Amino acid sequence: MSAYVYDLSEGNKDLKDLLGGKGANLAEMHNMGIPVPPTFTITTDACREYLTTGQEPESLAGEIDEHVTALEQAAGKTLGGGDDPLLLSVRSGAKFSMPGMMETVLNIGLNDTSVEGLAKQSGNPRFAYDSYRRLLQMFGKTVLGLEGDLFEDVMDEAKRDAGAASDTELTVDHLKEIVEKFKGIIKNETGNDFPQEPREQLLAAVRAVFNSWNSERAILYRKRENIPAELGTAVNVCTMVFGNLGDKSGTGVAFTRDPASGAQGVYGDYLQNAQGEDVVAGIRNTIPLTDLEGFDKKSYDELMNIMSTLEGHYKDLCDIEFTVQEGKLWMLQTRVGKRTAGAAFVIACQLIDEGVIDEAEALRRVDGDMLAQLMFPQFDPAATKKKIAKGMNASPGAATGHMVFNSAEAVERAAAGERVILVRRETNPDDLGGMIAAQGILTSRGGKTSHAAVVARGMGKTCVCGAEELDVDTKNGTVGLPDGRTLKAGDLVSIDGTTGEVFDGEVPVVAPPVVQYFEGELTPEQIEADDLVRAVSRIMDAADKHRALGVRANADNGPDSARARRFGATGVGLCRTEHMFLGDRRALVERLILADTPEERGSALDALLPLQRGDFVEIFEAMDGLPVTVRLLDPPLHEFLPDLTEMTARVAVADKSGEEVSEKDRTLLAAVERLHEQNPMLGLRGVRLGLSIKGLFTMQARAICEAAAERTKAGGDPKPEIMIPLVGDVHELDIMKDAIRAVQAEVSEATGVDLTQIPIGTMIELPRAALTAGDIAKSAEFFSFGTNDLTQTTWGFSRDDVEAEFFSNYLERGIFKISPFESLDTTGVGRLVQLAAKEGRETRPELHLGVCGEHGGDPASVHFFHQVGLDYVSCSPFRVPVARLEAGRAAVEEEGGSDTR
Ligand code: ADP
Ligand code: MG
Ligand code: MG
Repeated sequence: MSAYVYDLSEGNKDLKDLLGGKGANLAEMHNMGIPVPPTFTITTDACREYLTTGQEPESLAGEIDEHVTALEQAAGKTLGGGDDPLLLSVRSGAKFSMPGMMETVLNIGLNDTSVEGLAKQSGNPRFAYDSYRRLLQMFGKTVLGLEGDLFEDVMDEAKRDAGAASDTELTVDHLKEIVEKFKGIIKNETGNDFPQEPREQLLAAVRAVFNSWNSERAILYRKRENIPAELGTAVNVCTMVFGNLGDKSGTGVAFTRDPASGAQGVYGDYLQNAQGEDVVAGIRNTIPLTDLEGFDKKSYDELMNIMSTLEGHYKDLCDIEFTVQEGKLWMLQTRVGKRTAGAAFVIACQLIDEGVIDEAEALRRVDGDMLAQLMFPQFDPAATKKKIAKGMNASPGAATGHMVFNSAEAVERAAAGERVILVRRETNPDDLGGMIAAQGILTSRGGKTSHAAVVARGMGKTCVCGAEELDVDTKNGTVGLPDGRTLKAGDLVSIDGTTGEVFDGEVPVVAPPVVQYFEGELTPEQIEADDLVRAVSRIMDAADKHRALGVRANADNGPDSARARRFGATGVGLCRTEHMFLGDRRALVERLILADTPEERGSALDALLPLQRGDFVEIFEAMDGLPVTVRLLDPPLHEFLPDLTEMTARVAVADKSGEEVSEKDRTLLAAVERLHEQNPMLGLRGVRLGLSIKGLFTMQARAICEAAAERTKAGGDPKPEIMIPLVGDVHELDIMKDAIRAVQAEVSEATGVDLTQIPIGTMIELPRAALTAGDIAKSAEFFSFGTNDLTQTTWGFSRDDVEAEFFSNYLERGIFKISPFESLDTTGVGRLVQLAAKEGRETRPELHLGVCGEHGGDPASVHFFHQVGLDYVSCSPFRVPVARLEAGRAAVEEEGGSDTR
């Protein structure tokens, strides 16, 4: 076997790294007995060597030569031979498809002599000269790097002079003239004649394809799509077949199912008397593929057969390129086709029904990101929209607002109740305030790791970035549109972060049907009638059946708990109590903090108790029969007090103007000063607070117990769990636990309901807690990993301070592959989780383990938690379906089974 060049028979679909996607699949089709023009593939190894050393591997030219000879023998023609030439195409093909990014040259081997041979042999001089002008055009543009317009202009002029509506109306004489003009352009622009020697053409084209890997647009595309730069492209050298031999010939593209909706059927376009990109280039109107049946039934039937064979073989939707040369069908490309998120679900279910794949494989075919896409608010599909640009779909969702061009104005106008979209060329840390205030963010530069994209995703805010067609002038507050119009500050725009589209004006937003389904708003008949909803419902059932992980929700009130339950949560994994201390109740907390005497403190706590109890009753009712993990107060107290700077300024101003400063304000200021921390995240919070402020945690425990008793007496089945945050040492927990046990006993006694079985556990969110988990488990009856804080404390950075500052830089430089707040850093933070899980269970085998960080709703993290053997993940109610699906996928992945593609 040669080192750098592979025959079709040597390849297969699994060799994409070496042969690229196109080469690997051409080989696969050939080996299946499907007609593919004889082809050989130059490996990505050769490309990589060329790109690093600047030269082809020494043996490459010789290997190519040998393989060309083999093609010549197969065809019974010689490359560029004068009487009956063999012609070749030179096609790029990387591991991941990079549509339109790299180059292809068709009709290699034509020159002034062989064009005549081709004319004679085919009996079709028009066709021969049409092929020649295409070669000159593609060679000039791709290999010699000339402006495409130089050639296009000549074509346009010729059509105009000839009064021809399209290129097919040009006669052979026109084309001969064009050929001369094209040769002139090449001579003029490069100083050299077009190379007549076929092998020289071939090698130059191969080199051009190698080089196209590093073209500006290819580099940009890879950066945006996170495709590694070091892969390189393969090159396919393929015997030409001709769709431009007249009306019995043509070329087309097709999908085996509708890639937009997943609907079954034949989806494709066909163009008679055409070659190469003509179909997709829009130079002439294509006809629907089904029309082919009418005038070439034989080719059509064969194509249908091949399409169904391919689907059966790849067990999935395929897309294809083909050419018909005078009634003979040739396949030029196939791959498992891209599809929309919705189509992925629909197709996976169709394939189950067709017996092609099983349920487990169907779960592998979809993912949580796709499901999330189907759940984001959408622009009303029925609304009329005027699209003005398309950028990167950086952070999903749909947002409408008035354009503002700087952060300060965004903050100001949002505070005045206006919906705004922050429009920038690119964002930087100074834009953070505006990004928070805006409904969405639109930039004209930067890809998926740009500042705007990273920060918006972190905030869950809709963002379209890199909409390069827009000319953003922040100084003058205008946006130039591709059609020449200009929008200005204050104009309404709508951005779709799921598709990257930007629309003029306001587009109404609707809840997508999948969300209506999860909300329980659809009747069984409506579900049955909607292909997509039916598919989602079925896949969710499959996921639930397979998954080992439980899925709970982070919910702090009744309505959220109820929604979480509708979305399939089997409990609350994190009920944050700090939200219950805000709003009107802040005054009570203030009283608690300012209390000088046990009596004052006691009365503040007494006032808070019934309010807390009421909250819990509501949540326990919504989650009746299911566990609710309540976290006792976590954040630093200053969060409940006025801002230090503001307060200091107020008192200072009052002092200066001789105004009376109230006693209360003075004590408040003193307290704010006292509680002010350099590093609140690492300060007096969590269990430290519980140990410092007497009666606080026990009041909360009492509220929980009393609420549970009340629910029990009302016939309910409350299942609270009490969780102590930020424990670093088992003694902290021991002390709190004793105090809470006493409360449990007391309330049981008082109410006659046994509350002593309510479990008491802790969060594992400090490295020390993870490292001493074996000890902590002696006291803790369950663990819940607070992966957000655990990430912050393991890395030693606070999310709010660092995300906007340097994360996009870290991503650009590859220090992060993805933000550790988006997806768990499994090697670092994950290792602590793993260790704590293992050592905790060594102490207490029945220890229940969960996760309550946002990572609980992140697909990759869910897979990790499954592998570590946790019992459940908990995430925001809206992410619950995603977590369910991914938990099912993680289980299926572990079960193994073949990747059938
Ligand atoms: P892309 O990667 O952009 O799809 P391709 O390598 O598939 O580029 O080629 C571009 C066009 O040229 C396609 O329409 C393809 O079908 C056509 N083409 C490529 N090779 C041949 C060939 N040997 N004979 C006929 N048409 C070809
Ligand atoms: Mg192609
Ligand atoms: Mg925490």
